[in-house]
Amino acid sequence: MGSKDFKRMNLLDLKNGVCAVIAEKSSRDLIVSCTEAFALGADLVELRLDFLEEDFSIVEILKSVAGPTLVTIRRKNDGGRWEKGEETRLQILHQAQISGAHAVDLEVDCFHRFSKSDNCIRILSYHDFSKTPDFIHELHKEFESHRPELVKIACLANSNSDFAKVLQLYKNANLPLVAFCMGSIGFPSRLLSLRQDGCPWMYANFSENLVNAPGIPLFKNLISTYPVKNLSNETRVYGVVGDPIGHSLSPAIHNACFKDLNYPGFYLPFHVSVSDFSQAINEFNGIPVEGLSVTIPHKERAFKIASTSSDLVKQIGAANTLVKTNVGYHAENTDATGIIAAIKTKLGDSLKSMNVLVLGAGGVSRAAVFALKNAGCNVKLTNRSEERAEMLAVDAGVQNIPWSQRGNFNSGLLVNCTSVGMHPNKDDSPWDSKWFTKGHIAFDTVYNPIETRFLREAAEAHAVTIDGVEMFVHQAAEQFNLFTSLKAPLDVMRRTVLEKLRSKNN
Ligand code: NAP
Repeated sequence: MGSKDFKRMNLLDLKNGVCAVIAEKSSRDLIVSCTEAFALGADLVELRLDFLEEDFSIVEILKSVAGPTLVTIRRKNDGGRWEKGEETRLQILHQAQISGAHAVDLEVDCFHRFSKSDNCIRILSYHDFSKTPDFIHELHKEFESHRPELVKIACLANSNSDFAKVLQLYKNANLPLVAFCMGSIGFPSRLLSLRQDGCPWMYANFSENLVNAPGIPLFKNLISTYPVKNLSNETRVYGVVGDPIGHSLSPAIHNACFKDLNYPGFYLPFHVSVSDFSQAINEFNGIPVEGLSVTIPHKERAFKIASTSSDLVKQIGAANTLVKTNVGYHAENTDATGIIAAIKTKLGDSLKSMNVLVLGAGGVSRAAVFALKNAGCNVKLTNRSEERAEMLAVDAGVQNIPWSQRGNFNSGLLVNCTSVGMHPNKDDSPWDSKWFTKGHIAFDTVYNPIETRFLREAAEAHAVTIDGVEMFVHQAAEQFNLFTSLKAPLDVMRRTVLEKLRSKNN
């Protein structure tokens, strides 16, 4: 956009826009951040003037920002930082309206003091940082009756039905609307709102100073991970359900593949608590979500709610993948196939008669034990808690070795399916270094860190090693195939996971 063009721009013409929220302590930093945000692809910037800690001139700031601006001065009581008096605040907003701002953000109690202007839209905004109120539909209607140019509604989601309720607002909207839920549960609604007609932009955080905007994505993460510009109501929705979910690498890996193959899909992290699981799955039908990865603590629940399941899922009793069909969800377990694929990548196809010791008896251990047994291996398992080990050993018909005697397994494939050694407990290992021999093949399902202490000590003993990234990539690749019927680009997946893990650990 040429520097003159943006001055005449009507923000309501935006579609799939990203508004970079800029909260800085000085005018100078504010202006520098705006320039950076536009250079990185922001469509407009929200100037959070309540964060400025020095006197400022709104006229000078607006003169220095070369792009569309939305001016906000949030009062302390409304979740902002402004404490310098209401009349001063309103004067600055009036000044912004006549000095080149493209939009001003106004709360309902002061909205009537701002008349309509040709060049600056009035956003009538509502925020609730504790809940999504039951009266949200009535509130939306009432806000529209004030005839602003755009309504903004932001509420905290305490359950997945909250964000479904907020997305419903678009169906009855007569005016442009930016409505979403805050918090990690609400995060998907920020992107899903862009698929709705009448939603011109979403917000992303550009500044470290920004607080009290729970769930707002970092601008750089948003644009590097999500296909914001391509979202429409035709875009297919996929995601991962878990609790917690913020750390998940699955959105990055699946979105990178959609982009690489030019596939019209996007993949979101759904934070779903145990008590919310069944309700959430129902809500996802309405979006609709076409496929889900399932992670801790929902894998057994996913198997139970599925209409159909693969034989492997029935054996394991848990699923990490749900694919939408005409009769509900079909459940698969790609942890199991990912484990086998990772081993084959390193050792070739023949696993038959290989001696294996699986460490652990949790969800991933169950997948490993059944998959390796089905592949013809001689599987034994060992686990810290004897009772859990015995249960899996009986279910799978394999031998259970006491945890204290695991060191006697002196050659063959060792598969660590415990969480020992996982970030942040990087110095732990489920295996004593002196037990390693060069006859071992050490496979760690833990992938963060990439090289665990278990793998490092195995390599020092000249054992062959297989890392958890390989399993993660293969389980995700098979999910991708189940979701889209396309072959996943393994190199894109591997590169994305390694980049994310390396940047997390720096
Ligand atoms: P889970 O069901 O919670 O099982 C955890 C296992 O770790 C249990 O056997 C538990 O033993 C054992 N454990 C935990 N702390 C221990 C300790 N201090 N000493 C000895 N054993 C201990 O978890 P999960 O779903 O099976 O996941 C296990 C690991 O798999 C995760 O940490 C993750 O890194 C990895 N994973 C990898 C991928 C991949 O794609 N690479 C995918 C999913 C998971 P008790 O029964 O005695 O508690």
